[in-house]
Amino acid sequence: MTSDSTIIKGTGVVAGIAYAPAIWVHPRPELPTAGTTIADDAHDSEFERFTTAADAVAARLSARAETVEGAAAEVLKATAGMVTDRGWRRTVKKNITAGHPADYATVAATQKFVEMFEAAGGLMAERTTDLRDIRDRVIAELRGEDEPGLPDVTRESVLFADDLSPADTATLNPELVVALVTELGGPTSHTAIIARQLNVPCIVAAGRAVHEIPAGEYVLVDGASGTVTLNADEETARASVASSRERAAIVAQWRGPAQTKDGHRVQLLANVADGNAARIAADTQAEGIGLYRTEMSFLSTSQEPSVEEQAAVYRKVLEAFPASKVVIRTLDAGSDKPIAYANMEHEDNPALGVRGLRIAWGNEGILVRQLDAIALAAEGRGEDAPTWVMAPMLAREREARWFAELCRERGLTPGAMIEVPAAVIMADKIMPHLDFVSIGTNDLTQYTMAADRLSPSLAYLTDPWQPAVLRLVKETCRVGELTETPVGVCGEAAADPKLACVLTGLGVTSLSAASTAVAGVGAQLAELDLAACQEVARAVLDAPGATAAREIAREMILG
Ligand code: PEP
Ligand code: MG
Repeated sequence: MTSDSTIIKGTGVVAGIAYAPAIWVHPRPELPTAGTTIADDAHDSEFERFTTAADAVAARLSARAETVEGAAAEVLKATAGMVTDRGWRRTVKKNITAGHPADYATVAATQKFVEMFEAAGGLMAERTTDLRDIRDRVIAELRGEDEPGLPDVTRESVLFADDLSPADTATLNPELVVALVTELGGPTSHTAIIARQLNVPCIVAAGRAVHEIPAGEYVLVDGASGTVTLNADEETARASVASSRERAAIVAQWRGPAQTKDGHRVQLLANVADGNAARIAADTQAEGIGLYRTEMSFLSTSQEPSVEEQAAVYRKVLEAFPASKVVIRTLDAGSDKPIAYANMEHEDNPALGVRGLRIAWGNEGILVRQLDAIALAAEGRGEDAPTWVMAPMLAREREARWFAELCRERGLTPGAMIEVPAAVIMADKIMPHLDFVSIGTNDLTQYTMAADRLSPSLAYLTDPWQPAVLRLVKETCRVGELTETPVGVCGEAAADPKLACVLTGLGVTSLSAASTAVAGVGAQLAELDLAACQEVARAVLDAPGATAAREIAREMILG
């Protein structure tokens, strides 16, 4: 740092230090307004110009979809499909025939569809972001401007954006994009989850101040402390990057299974979203899968897949770990992950709405068919490869009893996410029905702090270091011990190496994190005795807030 360096503070979500010039995600184009008209004899050529631009955009999106798998590919394919939509193209043509140039004709046609979708409400209303996205891409193409979104990255750079969409991040190259910084987002937003998957240092919720940073300016990003430093002393910055790389080298050397320095075992597992992610996880030191988010496989599926179709999807994940534990979570549709065939009604407040297990309460079919599909996919797996199934958003004893029965009838091992505070309060009633629980710290934090996990202005509350949340983890572990129920953590808290030590000190028996976080967590655990983890846990529980808790742990845990 120099005396004239400026520090911008955000929420660090992936640790690591990077020093490189800034690049920005290309902005959206200025939208034209009505006014100019085109001559009658130019209508055909103008529509031709539009068609060429729209085809180019669709082709680019489809080509990008081919280079990725899973949810990212689905998102890109669905967006490409909208650009080729006949109804939308017909409306553009009508507008051009009325004398409007192609760019304004595109804006007006899109607006008409946006209004229609908004009037329909629910899931249709949620597609309006995609509609605006294709409008912007086509307009940029018509004008010969850069496609909005990710620029071509040709050298090591720090990528800045308001926020990143799945379409933006689907093709990110982590060798060149050495850090991500967003104005918006929260610790559990899309950007954070993707950054963790790519293992790129990442800061979210850095605020408006980041817009003062011009492309090309060198910045020092520290993903652990959540700081972006401008005018950093180059020598110091490069030394920090070097020592962060040294740490990365130690982490790369680490070999499982995970245990503390004095040999206390903690099962270290991976979070995955599809077969591709599971295969990547299989190449890490993860002992199995601790969270397969099944809803991620169906985000753009409009009809409920048959039992056989679902089983084929689940089998891809199970096959990546033929001789290890896999924990499959039943559909957590709703809130920020709506699924067309599961979330029917429009809700004003979907995070508190019919999501997760609530979809199946009183309407068992969707859950029963999913459990049948999981049982079918798991057929033939040996005793060394147990298939555990857990319910998201469980809050009451009767739900635990009901879910466990449905699982056991199908030979599946039942468990539940602990992510609603009520489930912690009622843990002594809930756990006896189940064979395991896994704490979802992302939602447990959201609901404990009454703070939307997607809100950038509340990122200081949706911080898993909140002692209030950690006290609930401790209580869950206490009941887990009493009822002999294994207690895991599969929220983003488990991906933070120091917090993972705290969780171990609190009594958690397994940790499940993004594949890229597994080695960092394992290496950190290996450096501490269990008693030291417990000591840090006690200190952190007594901290007045999240920032103090994080600081305390940073001082007590080296590395
Ligand atoms: C959680 O809430 O911590 C969790 C793991 O589930 P999700 O992030 O998918 O809601
Ligand atoms: Mg959750």
